[in-house]
Amino acid sequence: MERNYLLLTPGPLSTSETVRQAMLQDWCTWDKDYNEGIVTPLRHDLLAIAGLDESEYTTVLLQGSGTYCVEATIGAAVRPEDKLLILANGAYGKRMAQIADYYHINYVMVSLSETELVTGEVARRALEENPDVTHLSMVHSETTTGLLNRIEEVADVIRGKGITFIVDAMSSFAGVPIDIKGLGIDFLVSSANKCIQGVPGFGFIIAKKDKMLATKGNARSLSLDIYAQWETMEKGHGKWRFTSPTHVVRAFFQAMQELKAEGGIEARHRRYVENHRVLVDGMRELGFQTLLSDDKQGCIITSFYYPEATFDFADFYNKLKAKGFVIYPGKISDADTFRIGNIGDIFPDDIRALLKAIREVRG
Ligand SMILES: *Cc1c(COP(=O)(O)O)cnc(C)c1O
Repeated sequence: MERNYLLLTPGPLSTSETVRQAMLQDWCTWDKDYNEGIVTPLRHDLLAIAGLDESEYTTVLLQGSGTYCVEATIGAAVRPEDKLLILANGAYGKRMAQIADYYHINYVMVSLSETELVTGEVARRALEENPDVTHLSMVHSETTTGLLNRIEEVADVIRGKGITFIVDAMSSFAGVPIDIKGLGIDFLVSSANKCIQGVPGFGFIIAKKDKMLATKGNARSLSLDIYAQWETMEKGHGKWRFTSPTHVVRAFFQAMQELKAEGGIEARHRRYVENHRVLVDGMRELGFQTLLSDDKQGCIITSFYYPEATFDFADFYNKLKAKGFVIYPGKISDADTFRIGNIGDIFPDDIRALLKAIREVRG
């Protein structure tokens, strides 16, 4: 079926026709064809594509959007006697603090400006001021702007200190290589509708096995209890506790095969980097400027300043949509920007077609 438009957004994003077609069958949630044939292989594949050993790492899938999984992870990993340090530089980092507020978690947040990177230095200073921190959480690709935070530097700073490391890699996992083991990441959170290129409906948590086991009894929410969900999946060979988003999971299974066929995470990363390169070069040629300098910018999504004070984003958006491209408004407080995503079933030629459309719209 022909596409209504291409989504150049941070998710949900454009999926392949074969991923969408994979949703055309119904599946029984307790049948072994589904649990053992689809869910269990997916759990193995998530660890395999991340280069992780099943004896040390595990994964759990959870209904809901990505935020549900971030909340479930923080809510189960951080106990009342713990102290969480949040390093934030955008809406998704700040959302972690909102979660911590709801759970009455003892936390401190370092809130940087939206164009400032979370670096090792930021982590080092925060830990000096808060030596009693037990958990550190941060966002890898801050989708608010497109900035790629320095998780490697932060990992170096906390290595050996016994601090549990929680990373929201929602918009980067599978699109940017991440050495989860080398960086000592204890919980990594992502979702079906980002770089694995599935459709929305659930997220997943990749965790160090001992850390997952240690969450037993900690959750303060029944449906977001990652230990209970994990235990049911382990014992039930892929069984979900409550109604599983079967069509979405089947589509994700197809998306996973397509990721492997593309050549895995490295190959997907190269495509996204090229999409981003073609986009930024073309937009600069058309007179647009990026919000971020190139050294801070990731390949997932790019923020552009409005080209002139009189720029009418709604009009620009509608005209591009009429030509088959959906872009995204900006999300930052102190500048007028809009965003264009490079992830999904999008190729450099799609970006070239978008640039042609922008040229026409701009006259
Ligand atoms: C998409 C995204 C999320 C999750 O957002 P939902 O709307 O709950 O899916 C969380 N963090 C980041 C960095 C994201 O890009």
